[in-house]
Amino acid sequence: MRLRILGAAEEVTGSNYLIEAGGRRVLVDCGIFQGRDEDRRNREPFAFVPSGIDAILLTHAHMDHSGRIPLLVKQGFKGRILATLPTTELCEVLWQDSAKLMKEEAEWRTKKNRRKGLEDVEPLYGLEDAQSALAMLSAISYDDVFEPVPGFRVRFRDAGHILGSAIIEVWLKEEGREAKVVFSGDLGPQHTVMERNPAFIEDADVVVVESTYGNRLHKSNDETRAEFRDVMKTALRGRSKVLIPTFAVDRAQRILYELTLMQQEGLFKDGIPVFFDSPMGVKATEIYKAHMSLMSAEIQEQLRHDVDPYTPSGLKYVESVDDSRAINDVPSAIVMAGSGMCNGGRIVHHLKHNLWKDNTHVVFVGYQAQGTLGRRLVEGEKTVRVAGEEVEVKATLHTINGFSAHADRDDLLTWASNFSNSPLFVVTHGEPISAESLAEAIRSQGQSAVVPVIGQEIEIRPATPETRTETLAIPCRVPTAPCLETVKVLGEISTLVSSLREKASEIGETGDVISLLVSTRTLLETARERARKPS
Ligand SMILES: [Zn+2]
Ligand SMILES: [Zn+2]
Repeated sequence: MRLRILGAAEEVTGSNYLIEAGGRRVLVDCGIFQGRDEDRRNREPFAFVPSGIDAILLTHAHMDHSGRIPLLVKQGFKGRILATLPTTELCEVLWQDSAKLMKEEAEWRTKKNRRKGLEDVEPLYGLEDAQSALAMLSAISYDDVFEPVPGFRVRFRDAGHILGSAIIEVWLKEEGREAKVVFSGDLGPQHTVMERNPAFIEDADVVVVESTYGNRLHKSNDETRAEFRDVMKTALRGRSKVLIPTFAVDRAQRILYELTLMQQEGLFKDGIPVFFDSPMGVKATEIYKAHMSLMSAEIQEQLRHDVDPYTPSGLKYVESVDDSRAINDVPSAIVMAGSGMCNGGRIVHHLKHNLWKDNTHVVFVGYQAQGTLGRRLVEGEKTVRVAGEEVEVKATLHTINGFSAHADRDDLLTWASNFSNSPLFVVTHGEPISAESLAEAIRSQGQSAVVPVIGQEIEIRPATPETRTETLAIPCRVPTAPCLETVKVLGEISTLVSSLREKASEIGETGDVISLLVSTRTLLETARERARKPS
């Protein structure tokens, strides 16, 4: 019985794990890589023969977990893809959209290449591959034990991350031996707002655990809510336009819910239109509405009072491009549009038409990755290039960091501490600093933890002290103590610098201080990378 780590090792994206037992092979997640070098990495051949995989278990719909499944189907995978019902429905929205974007991108690059006499560019997969993959999805209920292939028993449990997200428990059998592997998938915080809290699992031999925020703490729900309200009240004071770049799945619904709550409490007038300018977000919201029974107690409470939590009054769904353009002529409105990091989608044209006006407010409610327009704005650039034009930034920018659908460090440790039989924790889905920091914290709780490298194989055996030592002996990068200490200290300083930068922008300090703090953080990050890699 073996586990191979084929993605999300020392990074957040590309989740992909292979379990082999009794001659069967089952994949858990098959996500796309995002960020640096993504195109090359997504096109790299799989580390296995797609037609040799018996089934896929999918933790949730996010593209970094599901996005390469249509490619796998294109390359000959024929088995079943098992996921919860909402996940199968969200995949339909996400895969069709990504196939469309890939086609557009490939056509644009082909046009450029032809002018230079270079080759045509093929999209990673086409709409027909996405459709074939969708036809292979089978919906599984939470908490039911089922047998996708002989020798594998599987149960999906609530993960509290997005609608349909699951922790997956897998019981394996081979030649009379038995063992259990648990995949956390992406875990929600311990106190969720919209989804049900993540399930506690008490026993396993191996636990693959995410570590996106393995070295960070989030603000509390109350603090985040208060912060969002303050920002919105300020932004709505004049006749202004408030732009909220939002991810279509989960964050958009959370913001619709927060706006509904604000209206209930009379914190903003019913007359202001709320444009939800994201056809994909609208489809995702319909899926959320169809599965209200899977939502948190807080949402259930709203439903008991006949409140639709995702429909603030004044909400207008925007479908056509013309209707989206027409929003330019509305002087005062809230506009929610994707993409969440402003690197594409309809938010781009709203930014182009409004960033230069001083009565515009942009409220960032999600993570802005390096290299995106959102990140450049958050970092205080005074002029930015938007849709081919230089635009001066006169708008007021706000950043709310607390709306995370992920567990923070304390949440992850609480979840991990619930395993009572000392499994081996395999820490994935996090930057090296987060993964190593979480692994270290798990070890200091008296458990065993490793941070695997990509391609690493782990023998799955019942958790006894001897087998754990043997598993730990598999070559893997566990940094030596002094090096880890340096990495930790540098991490702490860089977190401090980040919060200083936030404070500086809050008090309106926009000059040299911010750019110096940004450079400081970059320097610290480079130093941390150096300290991490043995020379
Ligand atoms: Zn996710
Ligand atoms: Zn993820």
